[in-house]
Amino acid sequence: MNTLIAHSGPAVRPVTNSPALPTSVDVAIIGGGIIGVSAAWFLARRGIKVALFEKGLIGGEQSGRNWGWVRLAGRDLRELPLMLRAHEIWDGLAGELGVDVGYRRRGIVYAAKTEQARQRQLGWANAARQFGIEAQILDPFAVADFAPGLNRSPLGGLYVPADAGAEPQLAAPAMATAVQAAGGFIFQQCAVRGLDIEAGRVNGVVTEQGRVGASSAIVAGGAWSSHLVSRHGIRLPQLKVLSSVLRTAPIEAGIDTTMGFSDFAIRKRLDGGYTVASSASSVADIVPDSFRYFSEFMPALKLERKALKLRFGKPFFDELISYRHRPFDQQSIYEKIRVLDPTPDDALLTKVEASLKAGIPAFKDVTIAQKWGGMIDTMPDVVPVISTTESLPGLVIGTGFSGHGFGIGPAGGQLAAELAIGVTPCVDPTPFRLPRFEDGSPIEIQSWL
Ligand SMILES: Cc1cc2nc3c(=O)[nH]c(=O)nc-3n(C[C@H](O)[C@H](O)[C@H](O)COP(=O)(O)OP(=O)(O)OC[C@H]3O[C@@H](n4cnc5c(N)ncnc54)[C@H](O)[C@@H]3O)c2cc1C
Repeated sequence: MNTLIAHSGPAVRPVTNSPALPTSVDVAIIGGGIIGVSAAWFLARRGIKVALFEKGLIGGEQSGRNWGWVRLAGRDLRELPLMLRAHEIWDGLAGELGVDVGYRRRGIVYAAKTEQARQRQLGWANAARQFGIEAQILDPFAVADFAPGLNRSPLGGLYVPADAGAEPQLAAPAMATAVQAAGGFIFQQCAVRGLDIEAGRVNGVVTEQGRVGASSAIVAGGAWSSHLVSRHGIRLPQLKVLSSVLRTAPIEAGIDTTMGFSDFAIRKRLDGGYTVASSASSVADIVPDSFRYFSEFMPALKLERKALKLRFGKPFFDELISYRHRPFDQQSIYEKIRVLDPTPDDALLTKVEASLKAGIPAFKDVTIAQKWGGMIDTMPDVVPVISTTESLPGLVIGTGFSGHGFGIGPAGGQLAAELAIGVTPCVDPTPFRLPRFEDGSPIEIQSWL
């Protein structure tokens, strides 16, 4: 089945479903974003029998809606080893998949508007060098050299030449197709209603099309992961934040490097247009989980209070009523919402467009080709969970990439897969363990940008 699902996000590369549900596999993966497909690809190439279940479309949610930044720059230091591994995977991806997914190492520049921002960038650059990362601190003229005619006066900037961009609408789907070529199964419009548990451990998954046996399951459900595991008594403090994006028609702007300013950010796309957005503002709906996880998210809320617009309304009641877990023989919320497709914040995008046009003359008359929204799944410390679970053997969680999981995704998926089959992990998984939210560890948020 490859029926088109209507949504207002960018069109993702189509993926054909595998023919029939297997009776059992070694590893079942829930979620066809960049994490799920990367985990599946890693396992399938090692001859492990793997099936991935996606309720909607491969890359239909965050992994197909993001800005496409593949960055070390400004990243939490705890994630740098995994991100270095991710760049290695991205480097070989086009060759291995036989598809150009738009990965280009053209560098990333973050302009600093304030002295505090400049100091934070300096701190990050010094720390990153200990990981062997080349990070340059730019003066205002050097920042302007990257963007001809720049009508902004930053105090300086951070430049990581090894950083890259890639195309979100191509990457996860191309990897899913490669999973099938390597002998794995991919099923879209096939929601997992919950885990099949026997004798206190994972024994399979219950999908809308029937049960599939599995000795391990990886939950890579993006913004749905917390809801999914809550059915089995696992507390995963995760919330959602709306982020809004636009893309321009193709244009000769003479800017190849991905750039972030205080009021807009741009990345040149493979189609010759630019993906444009801003991290200066985002929106969070107050939902029942906001109360459930309030204490864990307090530090993040304090830090982001200026940039975060809180809304209370329909989503609260929708989630309160429709998100209740139902018996396995009844339709789940995952089948009702095939693709999480939020309305973008039009007021914000109007400001972003105006800032872009005023900030870089080449964009003055550019045509805006599309606008969309995406729900970011975030953790209290803005670091993902890639972890086995003590209370449920056989379950691995790979989620909560907090707005920067596309770039690190190929390695995040690899690490989740390694935990699922119990082989030596590519990096130390300790920073990503789930119990950090329960064992009294302090919630540390690194804010470098
Ligand atoms: C607007 C925006 C901009 C961003 N910009 C960047 C960026 O520039 N760089 C970067 O690195 N990151 C960025 N991110 C973050 C990045 O996109 C995410 O961290 C990453 O894509 C998460 O991948 P994922 O596989 O965990 O989740 P997702 O891509 O959300 O995939 C999860 C999938 O699981 C499926 N699913 C859920 N529950 C079930 C179920 N029960 N059964 C079956 N399927 C299920 C969903 O349908 C979904 O397709 C951005 C995100 C957004 C929204």
